[in-house]
Amino acid sequence: MNVFGIGKKYCYTCGTEVSGNQYTRFGKPFCSEEHAQQYTDQMNKSRQEQLATAQQTGQSGGCC
Ligand SMILES: [Zn+2]
Repeated sequence: MNVFGIGKKYCYTCGTEVSGNQYTRFGKPFCSEEHAQQYTDQMNKSRQEQLATAQQTGQSGGCC
C-alpha cells in the first residue's frame, strides 16, 4: 500500500535495512532504539553547540 514508491528504508545511523517504522526520530528511520537514541543525542548536542556559539559571539544587537 505504498503509493509513493518508497520501497525500503535504511537506518540513518548505520545503513541497515529497516522494516517497519517503530524506530523513527525526526522523520528518519532507524534499525534499533539504540541508533535512534544516538541520532537524538547528536541532534541535541549540535543544538547545544549552536546555542553555545551564539552566546560566545555575543552578537545579539540589532545591527545588520
Ligand atoms: Zn542502525
